[in-house]
Amino acid sequence: MSDPRTFVIAGAGQAGRWVAWTLRQEGFAGRIVWFGDEAHVPYERPPLSKAVLKDEAGFERLVLVPEPKWSELALDWRPGQRIASIDRAARRVVTESGEDVAYDALFLALGGVARTLPGVAPHARILTLRTWEDALALKSALKGRPRVLVLGGGWIGLEVAASARTLGCEVTVVEAVARLCQRTVPPAVSTHLLETHRAHGVDVRLGDGVREVVANEDGVKLTLGGGATLQGDLLVVGIGLVANDRLAAAAGLAVGNGIHTDAQGRTKDAAIYAVGDCANALRGNGTRARIESWENAQRQAVAAAKAALGLTHDAAADGPPWFWSDQYDDNLQLLGEPTESMRVVERNVPAKRSRVFFFCDGARIKAVAAINAGREIRVVRKWIAQDRYPGLDALVDPAADLNKLPVQAPA
Ligand SMILES: Cc1cc2nc3c(=O)[nH]c(=O)nc-3n(C[C@H](O)[C@H](O)[C@H](O)COP(=O)(O)OP(=O)(O)OC[C@H]3O[C@@H](n4cnc5c(N)ncnc54)[C@H](O)[C@@H]3O)c2cc1C
Repeated sequence: MSDPRTFVIAGAGQAGRWVAWTLRQEGFAGRIVWFGDEAHVPYERPPLSKAVLKDEAGFERLVLVPEPKWSELALDWRPGQRIASIDRAARRVVTESGEDVAYDALFLALGGVARTLPGVAPHARILTLRTWEDALALKSALKGRPRVLVLGGGWIGLEVAASARTLGCEVTVVEAVARLCQRTVPPAVSTHLLETHRAHGVDVRLGDGVREVVANEDGVKLTLGGGATLQGDLLVVGIGLVANDRLAAAAGLAVGNGIHTDAQGRTKDAAIYAVGDCANALRGNGTRARIESWENAQRQAVAAAKAALGLTHDAAADGPPWFWSDQYDDNLQLLGEPTESMRVVERNVPAKRSRVFFFCDGARIKAVAAINAGREIRVVRKWIAQDRYPGLDALVDPAADLNKLPVQAPA
């Protein structure tokens, strides 16, 4: 190869994939050594809690870079190899098996691990969901239609609840705080999620944490903080992710709920970048955020790969963050970052089982949560990019075609 440099990618998920892809797209002709500690080719995780659990997708549907694109990337691919340390002075990574590789740039795309319950011993009836193997274990356990207790009313917990319920399981969701997905959505969307799950027969317990977990060959018993007890056959713990930042911390990089980076993925070491779920990035408003989403992993990886090649990346041009979830027959998409102080304008189109919440600040739409309304998301994305909006009252009319509404710049 004409370029003598070696770029190393640590971690083979969505973020790593977009680093490799972008490097080649942007013309990098050097060597790319890509380490992944899982035994598989890089795969994506969103289907694990959805189609995989319901036996609607096999591994081939998850593969991030199928052939022939995979071969075209001309990678030095090292599956099943875990990076154990980084020698920053020598610019080398060392794997657990003792192999070492020198790098000119290193991309940490390490993701995270599912948080477990402190003080609760591992047990075959207590499962988490992060990997393909986790999904296979849960899928297999769901076959016997167990009574499923789900701890955590966030996205993973709710998707597992929906899949298990769809498979005919009796499901109880226990959430410690007062509403579902409290960290990521305003009350209107939490209420919608609650109504949906209850309508499907899920027993949702809010505002009550777990005091004790007893798992044995007969089942799992949860004692809640308020004293209630719940009996199930299986407990799925969906209480968040712990970022894989220890490797970076041990190498002296700045960490704290993820690896600290600037807006283009640079750590305090000019040769090391961090992207995706493991990165805690600086944002335009001066705050930091560690965002766990498929699109964020892609965006950060593209930006960092460009940075390593000396190219700039206009993060503002990426538009607002976007996230989706599928539960039962509903597709939910979230564009932007709604806050509780924003005015909510709701649009209901019962004939399409669609519901859209617009989150507004003055005449501007800042964010939108859309249930079964992907088209509306695309229209709002356009409005936000142009900073031109329709009159907010017009949004409510279910007969109005959003694409045809007249728009204007806010005064
Ligand atoms: C069940 C599930 C459902 C999801 N659904 C959605 C969804 O509907 N919408 C959405 O937007 N997002 C969803 N997400 C989140 C999304 O999948 C993640 O944000 C995304 O996978 C992050 O990609 P990543 O590359 O940063 O991390 P990962 O995908 O976790 O990849 C990191 C990889 O690095 C490996 N690794 C760690 N340490 C080392 C090491 N020392 N050496 C080598 N390799 C290492 C890990 O094993 C892993 O393979 C879901 C996640 C899960 C788990």
